[in-house]
Amino acid sequence: MTHLVVVGASLAGLRAVEAVRRDGFDGDVTLVGAEEHLPYDRPPLSKEYLSADEIADPRYREEETFAGDLDVELVLGTPATALDSAARTVAVGERTLSYDGLVIATGAHARVLPGTEDIAGVHTVRTLDDAIALRAALRAEHARRLTVVGAGFIGSEVAAVGRKLGLEVTILEALETPLARAVGERMGRALTHLHRRHGTEVRTGVAVEEVLAENGHVRGVRLGDGTEMATDVLVVGIGARPATEWLEGSGLTIDDGVVADETLAAAPGVYVAGDVARWPNALFTDVAEGTMRLEHWTSAADQGGRAARHAVDPAAATPYETVPYFWSDWYDGRVQFVGIAAGEDIEVVAGDDAQGGPFTAIYRAGDRIVGALAVDMPAEVMKYRRLIGGRKTWDDALELAEQRRRQREEKARQRAEGACT
Ligand SMILES: Cc1cc2nc3c(=O)[nH]c(=O)nc-3n(C[C@H](O)[C@H](O)[C@H](O)COP(=O)(O)OP(=O)(O)OC[C@H]3O[C@@H](n4cnc5c(N)ncnc54)[C@H](O)[C@@H]3O)c2cc1C
Repeated sequence: MTHLVVVGASLAGLRAVEAVRRDGFDGDVTLVGAEEHLPYDRPPLSKEYLSADEIADPRYREEETFAGDLDVELVLGTPATALDSAARTVAVGERTLSYDGLVIATGAHARVLPGTEDIAGVHTVRTLDDAIALRAALRAEHARRLTVVGAGFIGSEVAAVGRKLGLEVTILEALETPLARAVGERMGRALTHLHRRHGTEVRTGVAVEEVLAENGHVRGVRLGDGTEMATDVLVVGIGARPATEWLEGSGLTIDDGVVADETLAAAPGVYVAGDVARWPNALFTDVAEGTMRLEHWTSAADQGGRAARHAVDPAAATPYETVPYFWSDWYDGRVQFVGIAAGEDIEVVAGDDAQGGPFTAIYRAGDRIVGALAVDMPAEVMKYRRLIGGRKTWDDALELAEQRRRQREEKARQRAEGACT
């Protein structure tokens, strides 16, 4: 094993090269990225990066760290265009890189509304360049109305920023219940309350038929029922598609991501990590059939390290299983989810979901707890995450919920006593 190539210079790719160097791998390492930028953190791009007056540099590491401590050859601004998994080569611009081990960490691209690519004022949020453009648009003097297509997590975060900046905000969602697939129907309704409580209009069950433009700039949208809505800025938050276009003809199995086995192996010597990876997560195969692809920061970071370790030492590869975790910042609060939303039963174990929180809800599949959602209760979900990871029962989860309830009551009592003395 003399050359590890990592394609995709973002979170999973960075963690891949860092992990093998930390483990003492002393072969050559090349990190290839399509963007000109050094690896940077995406979550702030739909949050603080848009709302804060002073913006923090989102890059994870300085350029010198790659050449120095990490001893990694960086090839930026040049996408990989082909993989020959039999010859073990990757085409990158004019070069053909030979590898012994390969990590594919090419993430995903934002989905766009066809035909809107050249209309100014229509934005997606996936890259730093996207966020720079959107930040300017939201802060432009003429910007009064923001319309967000899609009530997913990123669209919701942008809507929250829009309100913070004083814009009139409308979310247009095709589904009757936003986020139903991600968190279930009832919790999707609870999260919608959160928007309405903060003055964001949410229109569900509506389709955008056409984006209307004047002099090359967006002026509104026409909906499925023929009505027109005016807007100054339009953000399209309709999900992401895995960046697999460069793998056509590679022989790898592509099916909404690169399909891998339980050790993240997609072919001999080829491992996948992050938003592009689809693999059977053994922790859930008994309750949710098939493979899983996550678009979460924590799993991309974690899988990056694991995939690279497996790539440099395939004989030591072991099944990768994880309890998915993501967070999302809406208005001044935090939404957190662990596990999967495949359960047939959802129980609110703390707070009240009717007004959009704070609350914690847990998800049941068979006799197991498989998921937990918390809104503005940051101390809760990690406790349930441990239960889910340990394949604990529903009764164990209810017992924990009762314990947590007593602890919160005791804390409240102590606070009240403190206030009286
Ligand atoms: C705006 C935004 C906000 C988010 N907020 C949260 C959050 O609050 N909580 C949370 O848990 N997760 C959040 N996420 C998700 C999280 O950021 C992603 O899961 C994570 O970035 C995935 O990392 P990755 O390395 O797999 O892929 P990416 O970060 O998508 O990086 C893939 C990289 O590969 C490059 N690439 C693509 N094709 C090629 C090619 N052919 N050759 C070379 N390079 C290529 C891309 O240009 C890109 O730089 C957010 C994502 C976005 C976009």
